[in-house]
Amino acid sequence: MREFNFSAGPAVLPLEVLEQVRDELLDWDGSGASVMEVSHRGAEFMRVAEEAESDLRTLLGIPADYEVLFMQGGASAQFALVPMNLTAAQAPVDYIDSGYWSKKAVAEARRYCRVRMAASSDGTRVPAPSELDLDPRASYVHYTPNETIGGVEFPYVPATGSVPLIADMSSSILSQPIDVSRFGLIYAGAQKNLGPAGLTLVIVRKALLGRARPETPSVFDYQRVAEEKSLLNTPPTFAWYVAALVLKWLKGLGGLAAVAARNRAKADALYGALDASALFKTRIAPEARSRMNVVFSTGTPETDSAFIEAAAHEGLNHLKGHRAVGGMRASLYNAMPLEGVQALVEFMREFERKCA
Ligand code: PMP
Repeated sequence: MREFNFSAGPAVLPLEVLEQVRDELLDWDGSGASVMEVSHRGAEFMRVAEEAESDLRTLLGIPADYEVLFMQGGASAQFALVPMNLTAAQAPVDYIDSGYWSKKAVAEARRYCRVRMAASSDGTRVPAPSELDLDPRASYVHYTPNETIGGVEFPYVPATGSVPLIADMSSSILSQPIDVSRFGLIYAGAQKNLGPAGLTLVIVRKALLGRARPETPSVFDYQRVAEEKSLLNTPPTFAWYVAALVLKWLKGLGGLAAVAARNRAKADALYGALDASALFKTRIAPEARSRMNVVFSTGTPETDSAFIEAAAHEGLNHLKGHRAVGGMRASLYNAMPLEGVQALVEFMREFERKCA
């Protein structure tokens, strides 16, 4: 039986997508083989790749002067590939620190660039627009719109003038409409809102291409990957195929405005329950509460552990918070149905009643 999976990633996939994968696993598209067993250069797979790109372009409204790249190495590879591809050695770059993942991005960028911290925060909020100290000579500004571990999310897109804005959207991509033209580059590991691990999405303004440092590996050179339509070498075909099905599923839901409304309703239900509870609390400032990763705690590690264990018995799984934060974390990505959140809220009330 399928249970409710609140994992932060790899994370829940839409049931309809998994059923389709199961149904066509042995004989994909009448080929007599699975999608994993055919050439990435064959007409059938090329069609999957093209449709994935065109569905993504439709969903996000990606302008024509942007390239869409399907890469490997996860978001962690992008921490290095962004500076390698977009800057000369020791170029000045601005990073906004909002927690765990933005700090990881900073640590990697320091190997390639002169990193300036444009703002930082204490992990319970995100820097306000007025706190951003941006250098107009920076090669780019990097930020993490949603901090998967800390559970904070920017309620705004930083205004960076003519300096390209780079966003690690690993845990928020496709969760709501965005104005892609505000960004120089967006990257995201697939394994939360897009599909299985192994695939990394990059959306980059064409004007930023062609400046990779000479030592950049070809498979990691955005320009080369764009020229080869992300088929420079063998891509993770199965992950790409599943992501293509997820994109069709999102279109079927009515596009990202409808998806955003669903996500808002889920987050409101859970934060509403936290605000009403005398036992469960969140430390995150209201304006910075992540819609995707809801971090909360009872304040007592033993009670948290008891809750996580009891919830798992009820089919509410993977609620343990990241070891860096402790407590609980409920990830509410696109494929988590509202019923899952309602079941969690109901169970929290029952647990609290029993504790009282
Ligand atoms: N950035 C963010 C915001 C993430 O949530 C994660 C993964 N949890 C990463 C980067 C690292 O991604 P990957 O494991 O794909 O390298």
